[in-house]
Amino acid sequence: MDEHALIADADRRAHAYLTSIGKRRVFPDAATLSGLSAFDEPFPEQGKPPSDVLRLLDESGSPATAASNDPRYFGFVIGAALPAAAAAERLMLAWDQCASSFDNSPVAATVERIAARWVLDALDLPRESAVGFGTSATACTLVAIAAARRALLARKGWDYDEDGLIGAPEVKVVISELAHITVKKALRVLGFGMKRIVAAPVDAHARIDPDRLPALDDMTILCLQAGEVNTGEFDPFPTLIPRARAAGAWVHVDGAFGLWARASSKAPLTDGIDAADSWTTDGHKWLNTPYDGAMTICREAAALASAMNSDAAYSAASQDAQKNLNLEFSRRPRGIPIWAALRALGRTGIAAMVERHCAQASRIADGLRAGGYQVLNRVVLNQVLVRADTDEQTVAIRQAAQASGDVWFGPTVWQGRPAFRISVSSWRTGDEHVEQLIELLCRLRGTHAA
Ligand SMILES: *Cc1c(COP(=O)(O)O)cnc(C)c1O
Repeated sequence: MDEHALIADADRRAHAYLTSIGKRRVFPDAATLSGLSAFDEPFPEQGKPPSDVLRLLDESGSPATAASNDPRYFGFVIGAALPAAAAAERLMLAWDQCASSFDNSPVAATVERIAARWVLDALDLPRESAVGFGTSATACTLVAIAAARRALLARKGWDYDEDGLIGAPEVKVVISELAHITVKKALRVLGFGMKRIVAAPVDAHARIDPDRLPALDDMTILCLQAGEVNTGEFDPFPTLIPRARAAGAWVHVDGAFGLWARASSKAPLTDGIDAADSWTTDGHKWLNTPYDGAMTICREAAALASAMNSDAAYSAASQDAQKNLNLEFSRRPRGIPIWAALRALGRTGIAAMVERHCAQASRIADGLRAGGYQVLNRVVLNQVLVRADTDEQTVAIRQAAQASGDVWFGPTVWQGRPAFRISVSSWRTGDEHVEQLIELLCRLRGTHAA
């Protein structure tokens, strides 16, 4: 099979997969999963025909996907892939660009620069900020914190690049008691030490309580969040950020999914957030781009560009070259699917999607409450935390819902007890899928009595 026939075959198989969406199981059953053993072959001495490589991947792999690209998937905060963004990604594979700088890819450098400008516009963040397109909120938070630490040390006259951390003034970190695990991971990898990180207590709604905010000074990085991972709640930025900045601290905001509220009528939840120093957000969650697409946004562009600089004698570039704004040197142009999503949706399209998901989450909360469930959060955004009468019933119903294959959402533990964590974040999810979810859960509550 020649290259063109192979790509056409891949397109045909991809098309067949997309056609199965909405009709297949949302999570594979045990029999289907056993088909994954087909991959368990010895490393071949002789290469196989590419058409056979693709055949195995599709025949044994496609049925074993978690159908996160399905309207009935309510797990984590995993959006589907918007057609425009998925199609852009497909074309980019043919281009095979190394998008480190203009010299390597004029088109990538140009489109990512536009994408950066549009992201700042859509999220209404300081227009002078630098935007680095990285692989994930995890990586982008790591990059932002690295830039923050380096900048705080520089303000004290310490040259982090030359002298490292040994003997350096201590940089302290304050995070929410409910900070996302990946924020802790980024801090741990950067060497902050989990025992030294100060956790700020939260109120009943999972927001940092300003009255119990730990002391901040000009050597502190304060990490806030826009969209707590269980409740979707926002820290009180209008109170916290001015206090932190008055103390000379650096404020970073993890807005992996929640920052997109700012592009909708839910924007008041994010009031004051633009006064922070840096922000992280994902494309691959609420903006519904393919993986891996995320952003580090840094108000002081030079702080990010100098922390991430990778200019070399053979590859000098401008301060806004992506190789100087994120971890990777060789990279795919992750900003292009983000640009495609922004262009396809426009300002009104993003707002409509975010607002629809929030309304659907509220409808789920109302429907489940009417069916006798407890809704544990205020549902300010797209996240719904739910519990049945007893822990055993909560777990049994969640397992039965997953086993049905008609829907998928994940478990969590909230205030020490199991709960369902239902997230509405797929462009594909229509009101009919929301009604089906409510019906299924109300039915299961009848068959799994406490
Ligand atoms: C998902 C998530 C992250 C991590 O994002 P990745 O892109 O998966 O690395 C960080 N913070 C919050 C609040 C999240 O929901």
